[in-house]
Amino acid sequence: MSEKSIVSLQKIREVIKERMKNIKYKIMVLSGKGGVGKSMVTANLAVALSLKGYDVAILDADLHGPTIPKMFGIENETITGFSAGIIPVTTGNKISIVSIDFMLPSEDTPVVWRGPIKTKAIMEFLSSVVWGCKDFLLIDLPPGTGDEALSIAQFIPNVDGVVIVTIPSLVSQHVVRKAISFAQKLDIPILGIIENMSYFRCPQCGQIHYIFGEKGGEAIAEEMNIDFLGAIPIDRRIAECSDRGESFLVKYPDSEIAKSFMNIAEQIIKKVENRKNG
Ligand code: ADP
Repeated sequence: MSEKSIVSLQKIREVIKERMKNIKYKIMVLSGKGGVGKSMVTANLAVALSLKGYDVAILDADLHGPTIPKMFGIENETITGFSAGIIPVTTGNKISIVSIDFMLPSEDTPVVWRGPIKTKAIMEFLSSVVWGCKDFLLIDLPPGTGDEALSIAQFIPNVDGVVIVTIPSLVSQHVVRKAISFAQKLDIPILGIIENMSYFRCPQCGQIHYIFGEKGGEAIAEEMNIDFLGAIPIDRRIAECSDRGESFLVKYPDSEIAKSFMNIAEQIIKKVENRKNG
């Protein structure tokens, strides 16, 4: 990389830091691999925090599969640029969202930039965002632990913690180890593991089926000495809500799943507050 590009990346990093200075807690959501429900967890955690009265924003940095806008039903929105910068899109539940998706001319446009150009483009975009004062910023990183996730993660200053999403399968447990060492490499505290798609409860007979294996997320948390934050079962209502852009927690507030998300949110709040207050 030329000296000029290093200087310009350094500048972008400083501008992003300045832009994010009024965000109290920045939390990354990470998964070892794609398709485990990382974005669904990010979206529902954001709603849980917002229902608890916090001012929440999401940065959807998943370059190749930005799904957060669709999950909030705002995929047709465009972000507005003012002289001061880009203003995030606000959802019905008052969550501010910035996604690479808003930059693309149409829903079907793939991101075709390569390597460092891609990262630089998203960082330049990020350096223009006017976040304002927020309690929480949840950052939905690209899946995996490759260069892309790493370079984006390195641009976000002073991250307060990482939440790791996994499913119980052995394959997922294998990649979770990578996600853990990724967070350690970045020197960011790991707040805990959330096990998604833990089981399926038959709506007719109530029997529980462990589709991807039993308690794999709990096992890996214990093995790696990381807190286990909670389990979310497979439920078609989750997929339906994501597809329709509806909030599961608002629609099914009394469900076990909604209670799990509220409980996970409470644990995260306690952990980051305890850390900040020494
Ligand atoms: P990732 O961000 O890890 O790639 P997503 O959050 O986009 O994964 O989830 C992939 C798909 O699976 C989405 O359609 C989502 O609604 C669905 N999904 C995720 N978790 C569950 C669950 N526990 N039950 C049912 N569907 C789920």
